[in-house]
Amino acid sequence: MAGCHGPIAADSAGVAYRLDAADAAGGEGVSVRVTNAQLATAGKSRSKYRNQRTSCGMHEHDSRREAIRCGELQLLEKAHVISGLRTQQKIPLEVNGKLICNYVADWIYMRDGKLIVEDAKGVKTAVYRLKKKLVAAVTGLEIVES
Ligand SMILES: [Zn+2]
Repeated sequence: MAGCHGPIAADSAGVAYRLDAADAAGGEGVSVRVTNAQLATAGKSRSKYRNQRTSCGMHEHDSRREAIRCGELQLLEKAHVISGLRTQQKIPLEVNGKLICNYVADWIYMRDGKLIVEDAKGVKTAVYRLKKKLVAAVTGLEIVES
């Protein structure tokens, strides 16, 4: 664990932090400077796991990873490897005629005559794991994770 001694200096431009040299195997220690702009956005991210909202060129995504994958899928569709690509597709999950919840697929598309449901899940929450099982039980579709 690197020791962080908290802010060592703060001025109108931002805050400087110094990391403990003793932890860095005889190093000189590292000064880290955080600008006011970074401080202003820290902890204010709209997405749950502090991912950066990123555009794929067509939509806004919750993370850079998701935006990159969306770009890949768009290219695959242009190359006619997949078809019918849709993002943020809501799949109602009903049991005995009762709506239990909706699962929102990051992407659905056709590949080799099969409907593929793909999820860019980075963090597999308990709710996600449950919904994945429900999707399989109710629709027979396996969620592909990317
Ligand atoms: Zn996209």
